[in-house]
Amino acid sequence: MPVPKKRHPKGRTRRRRGGHKKIKLPNLVVCKSCKKLKEPHVACPYCGNYK
Ligand SMILES: [Zn+2]
Repeated sequence: MPVPKKRHPKGRTRRRRGGHKKIKLPNLVVCKSCKKLKEPHVACPYCGNYK
């Protein structure tokens, strides 16, 4: 079994393949009718407006 010679520092480990693991960031847009923040491409939870 191949064994890694040295352990990578945390930053480098993350940079490898799993590095694309998205950190969920609240992607929000302002609703045009009620001016509240809502998720894009989703009907507004406050006024039900969609585009
Ligand atoms: Zn709204």
